[in-house]
Amino acid sequence: MMDTNHPAGVLAPDGRPLAADRDSAAAGGDGTETGPTPAWDVAAIRARFPILSREVNGHPLVYLDSAASSQQPLRVQDRVERYLRMQHANVHRGVHQLSAEATEAYEDARLAVAAHAGTPDPSEIVFTRGTTEAVNLVASSWGGAFVGPDDDIVLTKMEHHSNLVPWQLLAARTGCGLHFVDVTAEGRLDLDDLDRLLKRRPRLVAFTHVSNSLGTINPVREIVARAHAAGALALVDGAQAAPHLLTDVTRLGCDFYAFSGHKMCGPTGVGALWARRELLEAMPPYQGGGEMISEVTLEGSSWAKPPAKFEAGTPNISGVVGFGEAARFLADLGREALASHEDALTRYALGQLGAIEGLRLYGPRRGRTSVFSFTYGDVHPHDLSTILDQRGIAIRAGHHCNQPLMDHYGIAGTARASFYLYNSAEEIDALCDGLAMAAEVFHGIS
Ligand code: PLP
Repeated sequence: MMDTNHPAGVLAPDGRPLAADRDSAAAGGDGTETGPTPAWDVAAIRARFPILSREVNGHPLVYLDSAASSQQPLRVQDRVERYLRMQHANVHRGVHQLSAEATEAYEDARLAVAAHAGTPDPSEIVFTRGTTEAVNLVASSWGGAFVGPDDDIVLTKMEHHSNLVPWQLLAARTGCGLHFVDVTAEGRLDLDDLDRLLKRRPRLVAFTHVSNSLGTINPVREIVARAHAAGALALVDGAQAAPHLLTDVTRLGCDFYAFSGHKMCGPTGVGALWARRELLEAMPPYQGGGEMISEVTLEGSSWAKPPAKFEAGTPNISGVVGFGEAARFLADLGREALASHEDALTRYALGQLGAIEGLRLYGPRRGRTSVFSFTYGDVHPHDLSTILDQRGIAIRAGHHCNQPLMDHYGIAGTARASFYLYNSAEEIDALCDGLAMAAEVFHGIS
């Protein structure tokens, strides 16, 4: 069982411990700390997520796939349902009461999402379909306008395909160069390699805040500072950070920050791009249509101000309303307390999984979140996932949209267990028991 006397290190957005929590992140995982864990009533929190009370294959569901998509609390579902039942109309265009209410709900969600991202200016939040669309927006709009054949873009070898393929498409269109920061054996970005690539004076450094396979929390502020010093802008893929850490774009200092609703207790098909206002003003539209114009004639059009300029067509209104409610749900739970709970789970999981013979964990022990990729002997990750599923345990198996990273490690894929605010130490034990059962099925692990 998890020792609840272990302290829970609260991490700042750049992965450093908050002042209030000193050095616990630096100490993470060695099990030597003492001190109280903040109250986090997992049972009470779980009760707010209807799906967590169901059974799968005759066992209580153990949901360890939140890095792919988290579950939604009743509060978010209720808010979406209330919108659909009583408030639905198209936004911005109508002058009737329902349209006014729908618009208010939509813009109120923007306030909540802006607060979550840490910007005081809600017009810097552009709603998108998710992180993927947010990165595509920047690659198409900013990239199309400001990147040419002589320019370079620096990415990293740990990027999700969502923060890689849009730049490959841009490179195919413009002829710009793409360069990749190496990953160390421990699973961190090689900052010396970054410095080497920055000598090329790239236009942009685009990198993930948290690796979706390794759990690594990248030192965002430091990378952004180095990128800016080299004359580059910095885009951060926050898909795996916004649900877990105290994201604060002002403090991070970046230029673009992308994240998704469905990984932070919200609905699917909705997310956000945060960008500095001057950039949104300078960037051309990404898509044309209704909502994003100021005036249209047969000869040409002028654009609405951001964020409307980037929200062409009828948006995913109910999704946005649910996204806003999810941001408020996390704020009400307390994001520091949430990060503390997850940090305690991380320490416990590191100890328990690390003790299993034949199991190889990927990613660093410290400065990391609660997503764990592993291989177990030569058992195929899909087989592991299938065996665990028979016990109601949902994990992920495959390349996790990180094929270049898998190539880097010389593997085709991993099993991945990811923990969130509703997971408990008992579920980590259940995972370990399931792995022991897998070892029996495969007559030992080699
Ligand atoms: N970036 C990272 C690091 C991710 O983990 C994911 C999803 O797994 C994405 C981007 C893509 O997010 P979405 O599918 O919500 O657009």
